[in-house]
Amino acid sequence: MSDSIRRFLFEGAPIRGEIVQLDATWRAVLDRHDYPPLLRTLLGEMMAASALLSATLKFDGAMLMQVQGTGPLRLLVVECTSAGTLRATAKWDDIPEQAGFAELLRDARCAITLVQPDGSQSYQGVVEVVGDGVAAMLMHYMRHSEQIETSLIVSADDTRVAGLLLQRLPEAADDDTDRWNRVCMLAGTVEPSELLGLAPADVVRRLFHEEDVRLFEPQPLAFRCSCSKARVESMLTMLGPQEVESVLAERGHVEVTCDFCNRSYRFDPVDAAQLFTGGTRSPGSATRH
Ligand SMILES: [Zn+2]
Repeated sequence: MSDSIRRFLFEGAPIRGEIVQLDATWRAVLDRHDYPPLLRTLLGEMMAASALLSATLKFDGAMLMQVQGTGPLRLLVVECTSAGTLRATAKWDDIPEQAGFAELLRDARCAITLVQPDGSQSYQGVVEVVGDGVAAMLMHYMRHSEQIETSLIVSADDTRVAGLLLQRLPEAADDDTDRWNRVCMLAGTVEPSELLGLAPADVVRRLFHEEDVRLFEPQPLAFRCSCSKARVESMLTMLGPQEVESVLAERGHVEVTCDFCNRSYRFDPVDAAQLFTGGTRSPGSATRH
């Protein structure tokens, strides 16, 4: 089953794992923006990592993973919801064909935010971006912000993203260290082609065939964007009448495009006026859907 995440546990050891593979979800992200190749890889790896980390957290709503810097790669965002939907977007300037992770993400910070269904923020952790890639960045995040030892391997190509996570649960005793190290070492032998190309259950069996592993049922994941006309309306209302009127005066209409799914929401002067009068549309002009 593609586009799913599977949990696994090591019997008798406080170690848990998650393995994810996404293809239709990833292609839905790539179809919506023409990302430069280097950025595509990082965003894909971040999407896999985000699905893995969100599966280890208990939350209702959305987990937002954001990396923001002053280098050519200005912003990477991946959102996973507790309903198993994902979306992603990025902002960038000219990206060189070849550049290291640190060069692309100068002075960057990585933030993970939990947003409740009503839109309020319930948690945020922020760390400086260190390391030479997405996996290293997030292992550092987990160690410093969550104090949980995490081993993460992620991979992305033009059609698929995949990842493997191991976590040493907080109740782990010191005498579990050897087993934790051995399991991490085994995970580290996985090739990107295996992670991307084999069925997740086969990857787990192949890597840990000498361990007693319990593999759970796959949980489906899918691309979905939560933008809506109502949300755009409330955003414009918050901008205020002056801002909206100045755009109307310049362009004759207000158009807002969703960064995640590229969908456009267009407001003519009549629609825009209704935002601030609280008026309801006449039945003939109702376009809410
Ligand atoms: Zn959208």
